[in-house]
Formats: sequence, C-alpha cells, structure tokens
Amino acid sequence: MPQELTTWRRLALVMLLCVSIILVAHEEYRRGQPRLVVLDVGQGDALYIRTPEHQDILIDAGRGDQVISQLTREMPYSDRTIELAIATHFDADHIGGFEPLLKQMTIKLFATNGATPTTKLGNEVMELATQEPAELIVLHAGARVSGDSYLLDVLWPRDGSESANKGSLVALLKTAQASVMLTGDADNSVERSLIASGADLKADVLKVGHHGSKSSSSTEFLQSVGGARALISVGATNRYGHPTEEVIERLTQAGYAIERTDQDGSITVPL
Ligand SMILES: [Zn+2]
Repeated sequence: MPQELTTWRRLALVMLLCVSIILVAHEEYRRGQPRLVVLDVGQGDALYIRTPEHQDILIDAGRGDQVISQLTREMPYSDRTIELAIATHFDADHIGGFEPLLKQMTIKLFATNGATPTTKLGNEVMELATQEPAELIVLHAGARVSGDSYLLDVLWPRDGSESANKGSLVALLKTAQASVMLTGDADNSVERSLIASGADLKADVLKVGHHGSKSSSSTEFLQSVGGARALISVGATNRYGHPTEEVIERLTQAGYAIERTDQDGSITVPL
C-alpha cells in the first residue's frame, strides 16, 4: 500500500474520531439541560424533569417498559439514578412502568398520593419501592419539593382518602424560565376544588388532565391556568377516544397551542 494512502486513512480515522467525540459531547450536553419532557409512552403518562441542579424527577411511568427506552434517550449517559419518582395515582397507565423501572434503575425517593393500592400491580410496585434504597414518602396539598432554582408545589390531593382519578396528584412546577401545571388524571371535580381553594393556578404550560378526557379540562380550569401550551399524553388510536373533540375545542377556544405525544412524539419544555 502506498505510504500516501495510509497517511490519508489515518487522517480520516482521526477526523472520524474527533467528530464522534464532538457528537457524543453535544448529546451529553443536551441531556443535561434543565427541561420537562412528556415522554412518548403511548396511552399513559410519564413526565421526566431534569432540574437545573441536575436532579432527575419522574412523574408517573406509563404502563409498560417504554419508559425505560425513553429515559435512556433523555438522561445523561453517566446517570442512571432518579432522585425522585412520583406516582400521581395507582392506575396502571401511570404506575405500570415503575415495575420494570424499579428493577433496572435506582430510585432514591418514591412518592405517592397516599392512596392505598387496590390492584395486584399497585401492590407489586409498592413492594418493589419499599425495598432499599428507595425511601417512601406521601405528598399531599401544601407539600413542596424544591431546589435552588425550581419549586414543585403539590396542590392536590388534600389527603389520601380520594380514590383513583379524584385522588390524582396535581402539582405546579416553577422555574425562572417556565411554569407547568401537572394534572395527572384529575377530573372536573378536582379542578373545581382547586379553583375554589383560591390557589394560584397560573402556568405557561398545561399537561392536559386525563389524556384529554372530556371529564377533565373544564373551560373554567383552562382559563384559571391561562397557559399558552397544552400538552396531551395519549396513545395513537386508543380505545377511550382520547383526546376528545370536546377538550380539543375547549383548549382551542381558551387559546392554547396543542401538542400531543401520539402525533409529535416526546414533547420538551425548557426549564
Ligand atoms: Zn391515565
């Protein structure tokens, strides 16, 4: 082989290596950025938050193991620890993914809405979560999770007595860059209670309640939040007909720009 060709090959290899390193470094930088991501987990909810302090928070985990591949795409390569996981309520499309997740990743703190699980899946998830090193806590209205540059204020439930969707944890995430209303599967009755409580519900971004079910997202609630972006976590051609035309109409009327995981994939909100 001529000497010249070997030199060119070496040069090409070095350049390829440099480009690879730059691409990996850029990707690692992206993964470290503070943001909220509505993960595309089909019919269900799973929200990943990378805080400005480089902590990882997961609110719900969808139904199956899609959450793992989604988190693998979002979290820094070197980071496989979730500092805080929150189960808004015990419906399978919110907690199912915690089962594989708890077996594969480290969750330091596992929070629930305080309800007692009534299903086999719910009990299995709680059993896994109680194993070391996860520590268990309950979050009710008035609780605050915070770092130097973010606040996560829990607005609902008042206690753990409400079942299923009515007991769904609702929280408001705030940073200097954005505020996001996180609603789980809370329905109209919860929305009315929140409005009546006089709590500040204003947010730039709304994670639409219960996948766009018509029993959530009342016009009064949408106006109280008064956001610009509405994010719907929903599976394509799901059997519930989510999101409903009624909710799409109400959101449009209230001035929200709608994004949905079945059409847009994972949705990112910079924090
Ligand atoms: Zn749900």
